[in-house]
Amino acid sequence: MNTQDIMEIKALLAAPKKIAIIPHKNPDGDAIGSTLGLLLYLLQLNHEAKIIAPNDFPDFLKWLPSVETIAIHETEKETTEAFISAADIIFTLDFNAFHRTGNMTSVLTNSKGVKIMIDHHQQPDDYAKFMFSDVSMSSTCEMVYHFLDKLDALDKLNAEIATCLYVGIMTDTGSFRFRSTTSTTHKIIASLMDKGADNTQIHNNVYDTNSYNRMQLLGCALSNLKVLPEHKAAYITLSQKELRDLDYKKGDTEGFVNYALSLDKTVLAAIFIEDKKQGIIKISLRSKGDFSVNELSRTHFEGGGHTNAAGGKSDTSLESTVEKFISILPTYSKALNNE
Ligand code: 5GP
Ligand code: MN
Repeated sequence: MNTQDIMEIKALLAAPKKIAIIPHKNPDGDAIGSTLGLLLYLLQLNHEAKIIAPNDFPDFLKWLPSVETIAIHETEKETTEAFISAADIIFTLDFNAFHRTGNMTSVLTNSKGVKIMIDHHQQPDDYAKFMFSDVSMSSTCEMVYHFLDKLDALDKLNAEIATCLYVGIMTDTGSFRFRSTTSTTHKIIASLMDKGADNTQIHNNVYDTNSYNRMQLLGCALSNLKVLPEHKAAYITLSQKELRDLDYKKGDTEGFVNYALSLDKTVLAAIFIEDKKQGIIKISLRSKGDFSVNELSRTHFEGGGHTNAAGGKSDTSLESTVEKFISILPTYSKALNNE
């Protein structure tokens, strides 16, 4: 995003506008944190701004400031589509292609509002008039901070916005440990704390509110963990029955895949989660070093993401999805063994 773009966006935002802010389907901490942070800034400028999420999000994010104002397309289709169709500006945050919003794809494709993308995923589609895309960034929340900085708006960054942005940076960096975490990320975190983000409270709200059932589900996932030492890979499965028996709630499986990746000498980790309602197996992939799960997921599982974290899906059974995963590993043998 160059100086010209910033000047044009400043001019666009100079008078009150109707603005839709859109995160991806199954929004995570970065998607919800970045959209809320941006919303709370735009509301200070007296815009009529609204976050419209494709579907619901985990309870561990539901304490965030103004989170109750987020509209859900899945349950409020008519009103949310009317808002998007009438919007002057549409910010799309933390995703790189309209199809990542699921059933919102067509309303977004047909919308006339000026599109502004803020995102850090690889291979972005070319739908936005203003594209703020940077795959080297730790998180979209870090990008929203830079965006406010470029707009000379850091004076508007209050404790509430700081809290939202802190959450997304924390969740997308695995609490500041992934390779995408830079010294700039830490400087931004320091400035968010100076603005009033309460780091202890935030970590507690997001990570220390486990239900007993979730801990049992983690136990189940860990007992299903399989290791493939010859491929430096490990994977976890969770069937619909296992999820049902332990009263699965959205967000309960967040982070489980990292246990597989934390095994000594493991470069590639996967979790396969059966979703009978959608008729798919939802896949999360993680890797260490230069091994790209973005490439693996794009090639074999209709997904994508980042080098070290990607998602995808399969339309076949849990068993055959796992078989497919194991069968493709020999083609990655060199890359896996180089790590
Ligand atoms: P997760 O495994 O936590 O769902 O996702 C890991 C990363 O991959 C996130 O950055 C997420 O946005 C991205 N991602 C997850 N699922 C998909 C997918 O189906 N397609 C694409 N392109 N990216 C995905
Ligand atoms: Mn993100």
